[in-house]
Amino acid sequence: MELLDGQLVSRTIKEGLRLKVAQLTAEGRKVPHLAAVLVGNNGASETYVGAKVKACAEIGFKSTLVRLDDDISENKLLGIIDDLNDDPDVDGILVQLPLPKHISDEKVINTIHPSKDVDGFHPVNVGKMVQGLPTFISATPHGILLMLEHYKINTKGKHAVVVGRSNIVGRPMSILLSSNTPTGNCTVTICHSHTHNLAEICRQADIIVAALGRPEFVKADMVKEGAIVIDVGITRVPDSTRKSGFALKGDVKFDEVAPRCSYITPVPGGVGPMTIAALMKNTFLACEERNGATQI
Ligand code: NDP
Repeated sequence: MELLDGQLVSRTIKEGLRLKVAQLTAEGRKVPHLAAVLVGNNGASETYVGAKVKACAEIGFKSTLVRLDDDISENKLLGIIDDLNDDPDVDGILVQLPLPKHISDEKVINTIHPSKDVDGFHPVNVGKMVQGLPTFISATPHGILLMLEHYKINTKGKHAVVVGRSNIVGRPMSILLSSNTPTGNCTVTICHSHTHNLAEICRQADIIVAALGRPEFVKADMVKEGAIVIDVGITRVPDSTRKSGFALKGDVKFDEVAPRCSYITPVPGGVGPMTIAALMKNTFLACEERNGATQI
């Protein structure tokens, strides 16, 4: 069994970007600028946004963190996004999800200009991704592909089972794995909460992507010997032995599943850091595109 080390791969990608930014700075050109919008004070969201802002600093990107109260009106938030759309210095905009219940995720996502949608959630970018056109690919599936590429994992002809069909993880993952690309060409089964015989379907998988948000859901008896297991899930579960009061659990029961796998991602330290690396790559691309260096 080999561990797919998201920390390591993410560091390598960020270092590559850092060198490119140093080059931009040396040439007196604009460096990428990511604006992150955080509504409310959800602990997990604070952590994720904090990690993204920190990654910007490590690479040399400019970042702006826009903190908003959780009772902000939807209209006001949409107006703030419009201002960021109009700001010529801002290359990428991300709005950390989930949002408070009175705000529509869909309206917010649709308001971000597609050319600044570095999370790759806007329908225009999702449509391009589905058609295999160059675009921002949503950060988590993109990060997973970058990891498969780094470890030179051959996906061609493999049966991939994606558990979860959300717009931000499961659905794009299923499309990308089925695409005619070096990290695609899989035969894909996508599962959800209405799937019958989920365990049996998982046992047929050469690749399992677990993205359902149910801690330790995937057990050893659901995994065939030699499978590749990508654990997207991150759930905070109460743990009184820790100072924070919680532990992070993936969707895979790591201890019993790992010995059966050829490759597996740990939680934390697997998909999470790769999501950030992919977001940074998208932000760099957005900046290049705005400067006319690349067309997406
Ligand atoms: P959602 O809650 O939006 O989607 C969960 C999906 O899992 C749904 O499609 C749901 O089915 C399906 N599902 C839920 N329970 C079951 C079940 N018992 N059997 C089969 N399918 C089930 O979650 P997200 O996609 O946003 O996130 C999934 C997990 O990944 C979460 O733990 C989240 O924290 C984590 N995550 C991690 C990231 C990272 O960077 N590592 C980034 C993004 C998310 P249905 O559609 O029928 O309801």
